[in-house]
Amino acid sequence: MKFSEFASYLQKLESTTKKLEMVSILKELFSKLDEDELPLACYLLLGKLRPDYEQVELGIAARLLLRSVAKAASVSETIVEKELKEKGDLGEAAYELLKNKKLKKLVFSRELTIKDSYDTLLDLARMSGKKSITQKVDALVSLLVDSSPLEAKYLVRITSGELRLGLADMTLLDALSETFLGSRDLREEVERAYNVYPDIGFIALVVKKHKLEGLKQVKITLGVPIRMALAERLSSAEEIIEKVGVPCAAEYKYDGERIQAHKKGNEILLYSRRLENITHQYPDVVELISKNTVAKELIIEMECIAIDPDTLEIRPFQELMQRRRKYDIEKVSKEIPVALRIFDILYVDGEPLLNLPYIKRREILSHQIIENDFAKLSEMKIVNNPKELEDFFQKAVDDGMEGVMVKMINSDYQAGARSYRWVKLKKEYKSELTDTLDLVIVGAYRGMGKRSKFKYGSFLMSVYDNKNDVFKTICKVGTGFTEDDLARLEKVLEPYVRKEKHPRVVSNMEADFWFIPKVVLEIIGAEITLSPVHTTSLNKFKKNAGLAIRFPRFTGRLREDKEAEQATTEEELEKMYQEKLKKVEE
Ligand code: ATP
Repeated sequence: MKFSEFASYLQKLESTTKKLEMVSILKELFSKLDEDELPLACYLLLGKLRPDYEQVELGIAARLLLRSVAKAASVSETIVEKELKEKGDLGEAAYELLKNKKLKKLVFSRELTIKDSYDTLLDLARMSGKKSITQKVDALVSLLVDSSPLEAKYLVRITSGELRLGLADMTLLDALSETFLGSRDLREEVERAYNVYPDIGFIALVVKKHKLEGLKQVKITLGVPIRMALAERLSSAEEIIEKVGVPCAAEYKYDGERIQAHKKGNEILLYSRRLENITHQYPDVVELISKNTVAKELIIEMECIAIDPDTLEIRPFQELMQRRRKYDIEKVSKEIPVALRIFDILYVDGEPLLNLPYIKRREILSHQIIENDFAKLSEMKIVNNPKELEDFFQKAVDDGMEGVMVKMINSDYQAGARSYRWVKLKKEYKSELTDTLDLVIVGAYRGMGKRSKFKYGSFLMSVYDNKNDVFKTICKVGTGFTEDDLARLEKVLEPYVRKEKHPRVVSNMEADFWFIPKVVLEIIGAEITLSPVHTTSLNKFKKNAGLAIRFPRFTGRLREDKEAEQATTEEELEKMYQEKLKKVEE
């Protein structure tokens, strides 16, 4: 296919945002391409030359690209810059500039095919060494000189890494399925193959040549990363248990970088969540894996975390990320050593394990890892009810984790999908306050929507200011109450209802109902923040601002054992707030 025809398809794709339309344009395009062209077109459609994990990057700096456009259009770089400013896109700029030039174009310049263009770009990407900069510019200029303004627009965009078609790989899979399997009914098969072998060009060729049978033969391959399974999120242990079922496995959720490691004899390859090859960033991980795994060949998944080499304490994620900014990797791996917490195994010595249940994979994993402080399995516990999960979560948080991952014990590994097979429960949805607060109800708001059958739908809560013997507002809470709780609170609060705000209540907020401060609820929240509406510690940390609880939630405990004056005090809250500030500063 001529590149000019391909460019006109790119233009059509660019002019729509509707997925169905894109699929039908792609279908028409795919049916016109031969076997050699189809994979190349698939990469180009995604603005790439090869799958991400092969790390083939064009590596042309924006400045050089601009220079190439200037040369090809026989204008100065300043003119290109001006056009770029106007259009906001170098592809469009190239289009305009070449349009003007083409009037003078020589008739015998060659007509580009998809293959010509692709090959030139790939050669360009592979050029390295001192002379490569001029070589790259020359090759690009010669490509642009031979191209029409429209072709140039897309070649420039591909080279700059910003094709801007809004095409996702999943849309390509839809189109491949429709074109070569007759409908989208078998789309799942295409996706299954792509999830274990995410090379769009390879999959396209398989579907075209061998149809469904071919797809079924697509297997896990060492050196080709498997698209990773992702987790859903829920905000309470009860919800998770309900969704995942019992018994289930709760694992520590480590805050580091996810790595999928492929071991092929002596060769070890590491892939990131985005399936980039990150082997060169982690020579220490490569060493850990080669020393601490048993089988000759395997694929395992883990969280890589920064660790204090003296105390073996887990360090914050930010420290791990510092490694990315440094160039002397050998040195940095001594300064910021890492440890691995391995949580899954997907392949061992020729055997794919994706379809085995979690609990079986975990058992296989336990035989494959030679554990020490630096490489070990993720901390795991089988739990049977919300209470056990809650306790494990608390233990994880006490150990400095960001939460837990809860996994169905009988489920397979769903490559490339987010599902409830894994559910994350994170600290931020729970309590950064590590402790619960006991707050006093001073006001309430009418029940609305589903809660309109209840007198009160949410409550105005306060802390106790023991110096002035008053109650100061800190948050409004409506989350965490069951229908039984609301019915019960109506009764409990009845004797304390007042027409107006109680004189011991300091509030700038209005409420539908006011109460004598008596009833204490246990509340957890995400964190303590500054707020312009509440009176707790007003003006203490900031002018015209008080403290407030973010995402407050009733734990279900009515503290009938506590007097209002035994509730959390303003002073205690200020301490907690200062603690938090310290942590942020550290
Ligand atoms: P997601 O990966 O779900 O899109 P995200 O990138 O924001 O979301 P998180 O919300 O922090 O990440 O949760 C998922 C990540 O948690 C995983 O991708 C993995 O890197 C990490 N993780 C830490 N411990 C575990 C564990 N025991 N099992 C699985 N994943 C874990």
